[in-house]
Amino acid sequence: MTTKSKTAAVIGAGFGGLALAIRLQSAGIGTTLFEKRDKPGGRAYVYADGGFTFDAGPTVITDPDCLEQLWALSGRRLSDYVTLLPVTPFYQLCWEDGYRFDYANDQAEIDRQIAAKSPPDVDGYRRFLAYSQDVYRQGYEKLGTVPFLNFWSMIKAAPQLMRLESHRSVYSKVSQFIKDDQLRQAFSFHSLLVGGNPFATSSIYALIHALERNGGVWFAKGGTGALIAGMVKLFEDLGGTIRLNAEIDRIDMDGNRATAVILKDASRHAFEQIASNADVVHTYKHMLRGTARGAANSKVLQKRRFSMSLFVVYFGLKTKHPELKHHMVLFGPRYRELIGEIFKTDGLADDFSLYLHAPSVTDDTLAPEGCSTYYVLSPVPHLGTANIDWAVEGPKYRDRILKYLNDRYIPGLLDDLVTVRHFTPFDFRDELNAHLGSAFSVEPVLTQSAWFRPHNRDDQIPNLYIVGAGTHPGAGIPGVVGSAKATAGIMIADAQP
Ligand SMILES: Cc1cc2nc3c(=O)[nH]c(=O)nc-3n(C[C@H](O)[C@H](O)[C@H](O)COP(=O)(O)OP(=O)(O)OC[C@H]3O[C@@H](n4cnc5c(N)ncnc54)[C@H](O)[C@@H]3O)c2cc1C
Repeated sequence: MTTKSKTAAVIGAGFGGLALAIRLQSAGIGTTLFEKRDKPGGRAYVYADGGFTFDAGPTVITDPDCLEQLWALSGRRLSDYVTLLPVTPFYQLCWEDGYRFDYANDQAEIDRQIAAKSPPDVDGYRRFLAYSQDVYRQGYEKLGTVPFLNFWSMIKAAPQLMRLESHRSVYSKVSQFIKDDQLRQAFSFHSLLVGGNPFATSSIYALIHALERNGGVWFAKGGTGALIAGMVKLFEDLGGTIRLNAEIDRIDMDGNRATAVILKDASRHAFEQIASNADVVHTYKHMLRGTARGAANSKVLQKRRFSMSLFVVYFGLKTKHPELKHHMVLFGPRYRELIGEIFKTDGLADDFSLYLHAPSVTDDTLAPEGCSTYYVLSPVPHLGTANIDWAVEGPKYRDRILKYLNDRYIPGLLDDLVTVRHFTPFDFRDELNAHLGSAFSVEPVLTQSAWFRPHNRDDQIPNLYIVGAGTHPGAGIPGVVGSAKATAGIMIADAQP
């Protein structure tokens, strides 16, 4: 049975929560967004330290069209709120033996670099790109924003998934086309960007390659925080309400319906529909504690496999480094073995593979005059995999990473350091309520994708909805913004008389 619903609460102002709130408000549903922290953004929080601006999380903006759609709903334009700058090359990939690959959106340039490295792989790359485009059309365009609420929806998608050999891993599929070991790494690491182990994640995640080639890689002028600020402004311009420092302690129930959110300060706010952008385990285990559904589903969810965590160091230098590229992936000496350890081993490896963000290369507003801003992240095991005391190990790990960068990629870094802070798996757990400190929520493997992922609407509570990385289609900005489209579609339909 559906109810005529005119008010909705969205718990959590991450990209998914904000995109959902914009969609609901655009559809005429009076929406209030409740965010635990003092700033919106979730993983896309912003730190401002002595004139340096640090985007905490997402920096690679892909599929700008999925964002543009949020403005188009009300006849507005994204460009009136935020400026997106193209990033070239998309990434520079670096190995310890000195080999570098500039992954640019230029076929001739890609062909030239592949030919110089491994001539037979020029043709192999073309075939991989065609495969990636095929998965993109099937997996992203057709299914990325469609909610999988029943098993039948999965059955309907099954023939395509089988044809695309989605049971194989990203790495195995890439290896079918490309022979050179470093090029295999270059075209398979992408699933790590959404928390997927390239050796275990379904080859449907090879679609990320096509996503980047088709829509480009972008950076918001002023940082990803400027994009978040633009989304908040859009939501408020539409008449929506955002409340910061407003942690939801509990979702109140009457029978099988969610009736209100109860804040930490014990205030109660009634809504006809409630959507959670918070971590899925936190939603069921904490916010629905004391209910049969909360107990049963949190038990099921805790048996799921969760993505790895991340260790992130934000630092500012009193010098500039124009020789760096905006996005750099710094591969360590081991690939398969290191990733295997991150997902399965109790401990911290001696080596690491890093992503270095150097946004001052594109945008000089993020650091004081003559200075530059950075972050470097290292994928690390989540708290269920490795029992590491990050309060003790964090500073040591930070220093190891900074020394590595100083010795290999940014000479003088240690002398020029002006400001530094870091974020550990403990912070993912405590600041973001992330189960096991996972950086990307439920791991994107085939058996946890589409219908097998937590659903966009709860199976038993008809006016409780999920949005964000823990539901379909999954993590990453295009993923969670797509989840908002899927969830909003159900909520708006459910709100009809
Ligand atoms: C370091 C890092 C780098 C990344 N880089 C990229 C990238 O370059 N490109 C890309 O596309 N993706 C990237 N990702 C992935 C992407 O950032 C995430 O998948 C996405 O932002 C998650 O959005 P979300 O909507 O699921 O919500 P989240 O960002 O997880 O936000 C959830 C919100 O809920 C709030 N909350 C939790 N509990 C409560 C409560 N009880 N009451 C009220 N509020 C609550 C939290 O405070 C948080 O603000 C990166 C992730 C990380 C961590």
